[in-house]
Amino acid sequence: MRWTKFLITTLRDDPKEAEIASHKLMLRGGLLRKIAGGLYSFTPLGLRALKKVEKIVREEMDAAGALEILLPALQPIELWETSGRAGQMGKSMFRLTDRGDHTMVLGPTHEEVVTDYMLGEVSSYRQLPCTVYQIQTKFRDEIRPRFGLMRAKEFIMKDAYSFDVSLDAADKSYQAMYDAYVRIFKRCGLRAQPVEADTGTIGGNHSHEFMVLAPSGEDGILYCPACHYAANQERAERQAPACDHSTASAEPRAKVATPGAHTVDEAAAAIGCPPDQIVKSLVYLADGKPVMALVRGNADLNECKFRRLLGCTFLEMADPESTAKAAGPFGSIGPIGLDIPVYADLGLKEARDMAVGANEEGYHIVHANLMDDADIRIAEWCDIATVVAGDRCPHCGAPLTIERGIEVGHVFKLGTKYTEKFHATYLDEGGRNQTMVMGCYGIGVTRTLQAVAEQNFDEHGIRWPVSVAPFQVVVDLLDPSDAACAGLADKIEADLTAAGVDTLVDDRVERPGVKFKDADLIGFPFRVVVGAKALSKGGVELKNRATGEMQIVAPDALVSTLTQLIHQSTPRA
Ligand code: ATP
Ligand code: MG
Repeated sequence: MRWTKFLITTLRDDPKEAEIASHKLMLRGGLLRKIAGGLYSFTPLGLRALKKVEKIVREEMDAAGALEILLPALQPIELWETSGRAGQMGKSMFRLTDRGDHTMVLGPTHEEVVTDYMLGEVSSYRQLPCTVYQIQTKFRDEIRPRFGLMRAKEFIMKDAYSFDVSLDAADKSYQAMYDAYVRIFKRCGLRAQPVEADTGTIGGNHSHEFMVLAPSGEDGILYCPACHYAANQERAERQAPACDHSTASAEPRAKVATPGAHTVDEAAAAIGCPPDQIVKSLVYLADGKPVMALVRGNADLNECKFRRLLGCTFLEMADPESTAKAAGPFGSIGPIGLDIPVYADLGLKEARDMAVGANEEGYHIVHANLMDDADIRIAEWCDIATVVAGDRCPHCGAPLTIERGIEVGHVFKLGTKYTEKFHATYLDEGGRNQTMVMGCYGIGVTRTLQAVAEQNFDEHGIRWPVSVAPFQVVVDLLDPSDAACAGLADKIEADLTAAGVDTLVDDRVERPGVKFKDADLIGFPFRVVVGAKALSKGGVELKNRATGEMQIVAPDALVSTLTQLIHQSTPRA
């Protein structure tokens, strides 16, 4: 392929809207173009890289025995009403009406459609297990689309769904997908870490996310260096922190004036105690019913964990009016004498001598003991605070560390959540109707591509692994008007192509510096310079983008040298 025929436009400066390296570099390298917020076009160059990720995903799905299908992106709302998710998806699901006034949705995911499809296909246990997958566009009206392909409104996902006769059988299907994911991300040249993930309202340790570690990642990952426990901050657990009673006063409870103090810090200042001696009291509406959560003043309530504990669908912070009705005025609320269920984080369990809101504007109660005070009724002691670095590992007690990660994939045991609602059954060996057991497995294909760039770049540009690079080799023809050099570039292109190496010849009439900069920016793994200078030394100059190594190679030896280098540097599972 010739540069001059491939519609490549690189940009000198960082586009203003791009915040993270991979987004900047993919725009500057001319792989991606923005059309509107959260909507991007792939250029011929970008599409080549995307297709390579898709190919790896497809090969590994096929190898794991999954069957490729293609479901419609446009879906009737009735399927979402059957599953009960029509309301739950809220504004993140795009809805539209067709000319017959039927409400349709643009699929944010396909559990409903695939369950409906499979119930029509499967009738007997003999057809199970069965895993199907597709690589398809998804639509989500994200609150904050950002970072280019990382969080887009329209993106490409590989979504797979397994159907099994039993939970045990479903475990095997889950493991097969998990193993395929490990291979996929390795082959893409990614360092990805599986972590325990939040399962929403389904519960259990039945979900893993695959995280690409990168400082720009939107997710926090708690990691235990001692026992290798790893979990998304959304769900990470911890052992109860040790409690120091040495400075706790045994004085009786007292009401103190804290005028104007509404935040933890303001209350602490007014009372004259450290923030961790304040109990942070929060009223939430769980499916509309008020509940209170208590965490230490220096901790954050983790809404994901709290929702999971309560087993509710909707959880939202109560508005001032509901808060006042359930407890007291915003900023001065506390658990004393309440009728609503109060859930206290285990970080408070041993705590003595605490300050709580008095449920009266401008007052707090000091020297409160949550465990002993009869008028503080705790419905449950639970782990509902956000785990932070230094908290104790739930398995071994060692201090946890935190890193940032990009979620590129998610594997999930669904059980019969959807198959029950859709009556997706099969006949077992005894001729009895049984409900199929399901799993679902997503990979953000477009997000994965950008994650590869986010983990592989330097100050000059992207450093694509050879498995994902849009072209594995760029041949910089320094002077296209030099017949000898042009002829050699032609031959190199033909020979490399015949050897199965994707090759782009930079045949532009440009200064060498411009060509070198663009090659580094776009990030081709190998660069071959064909110019009079190197030719006079008996060869062409070969540069390895990842290592920076340069060598002069005789034209006759180039194909074998390159195919060997490419082979050596191909990331393997
Ligand atoms: P996130 O927590 O990042 O919003 P999610 O939990 O909503 O992700 P899933 O519904 O599990 O994601 O979707 C499967 C995969 O699709 C994710 O692992 C991610 O790689 C990708 N993905 C999800 N939302 C987006 C998006 N808005 N843009 C690009 N990729 C996405
Ligand atoms: Mg999401």
